[in-house]
Amino acid sequence: MKKAISIFWFRRDLRLTDNAGFYHALKSGHPVLPLFIFDKNILDKLPEDDARVTFIYQTIADLKKELQKHDSDLLVKYGKPEKIWSEILGDYEVAAVYTNHDYEPYARERDDNMAEFLTSEKIAFKTYKDQVIFEKGEILKADKTPYTVFTPFYKQWHAKLNPFYTKAYPTQKYYKNLLPCKDLPLPSLKEMGFEKSKLSFPKLSYKSKLDSYAKERDFPALDGTTHIGLHLRFGTLSIRKAVRDAIEAKSNIWLSELAWREFYMSILWHFPYSAADSFKKQYDKIKWRNNESEFKAWCEGNTGYPIVDAGMRQLNQTGWMHNRVRMVVASFLTKHLLIDWRWGETYFAEKLLDYEMASNVGGWQWAAGSGNDAAPYFRVFNPELQTKKFDPKLEYIKKWVLEFGTKKYAQPIVEHTFARERVLKVFKEALANS
Ligand SMILES: Cc1cc2nc3c(=O)[nH]c(=O)nc-3n(C[C@H](O)[C@H](O)[C@H](O)COP(=O)(O)OP(=O)(O)OC[C@H]3O[C@@H](n4cnc5c(N)ncnc54)[C@H](O)[C@@H]3O)c2cc1C
Repeated sequence: MKKAISIFWFRRDLRLTDNAGFYHALKSGHPVLPLFIFDKNILDKLPEDDARVTFIYQTIADLKKELQKHDSDLLVKYGKPEKIWSEILGDYEVAAVYTNHDYEPYARERDDNMAEFLTSEKIAFKTYKDQVIFEKGEILKADKTPYTVFTPFYKQWHAKLNPFYTKAYPTQKYYKNLLPCKDLPLPSLKEMGFEKSKLSFPKLSYKSKLDSYAKERDFPALDGTTHIGLHLRFGTLSIRKAVRDAIEAKSNIWLSELAWREFYMSILWHFPYSAADSFKKQYDKIKWRNNESEFKAWCEGNTGYPIVDAGMRQLNQTGWMHNRVRMVVASFLTKHLLIDWRWGETYFAEKLLDYEMASNVGGWQWAAGSGNDAAPYFRVFNPELQTKKFDPKLEYIKKWVLEFGTKKYAQPIVEHTFARERVLKVFKEALANS
């Protein structure tokens, strides 16, 4: 008879240390087999050089090596989760499946189906909070409804923060409970239809940035932010560790940025419709112009607005864009060009290494004015003033727009004052009738 085991299913928590679900699996009383599934439902929609797939792949290979040091291994599968799970149950005697909560709409549906399937097979399915400090119903207004404005959300988030929520899960104490196994195969990127991306990935070395973060974070030429988004997205950094580091460095502004991430996750959890529809529904009455050649010029960084073009070229070439510039380019697309925020959101989702559905939708709806805690619609960023304030020596612009200041550089795609008046009229008309 096969020996009963527990399986820990890695998804967006790709680390052995301080991992809630992995910790509980290791303490389950059964030997633990770690698993990762390259999910065809997700991968089939991505281009073959998607850099995030390369990042995941490299991380998975590292995890395998780590586990092998403990005489265990990582079972890596490629396919649709439903099918993979049927295969696994044929190969192993599974007592329980452990994993961490995942809050995006696709993940919720997948996990609901998994729970149903495993329960029907009499297998326990146990999931834990791991990627946030506070989740779902933990930060609510007095009347138990979710906050839709950041400041009071953060007040409660911060007041509730204590070492109970930020302490690390000591997984390393229990590695002896891993299932002994070796030489489990790893499918190649090529077999899964991908090629290795040429982009490089940000290192996890953010501590030196925390002291100067508040002073430097708004100036794109200084690169004063930490670039941890990718690591939080895929769990190569524990949010508990990030929060502990923020507290230790007394970096309150950075701490509040980590809370913005959770605020947007809370919004997506409580209002899943906002992933595709405007949070303020009347904004879906706006008559977007959606001009395709203007959209192309924006994507390629050829609008003739240097700060916008610098941002888009940084994104295209590195998979990352500075937050201040994300706001400027998003405002420009939705307001100056009157292109639907969903077009920009989709483009960012394809290109950003740190793409996070909740923050991306949140950021775009904030810029368009349609979001829960958005800039008022009549606030139209002036790219020239933004440049004077945040890139006064044009260093960021010159770094990314090499032909800036020469005849080769594009003429402005639209005149600022004209565009401003146009958007105010169109938005006012849409919103007046609601
Ligand atoms: C239009 C638009 C789209 C965006 N899309 C994304 C996205 O897909 N993924 C994403 O993680 N962030 C997104 N942001 C938020 C923000 O721009 C990035 O988190 C930040 O630029 C990432 O760089 P960093 O890791 O150096 O951040 P730091 O400034 O060092 O902040 C540390 C971490 O805090 C979180 N954070 C910081 N600012 C925000 C914010 N405004 N909202 C939510 N979380 C925040 C992120 O996890 C970030 O990695 C978007 C913002 C806008 C305006």
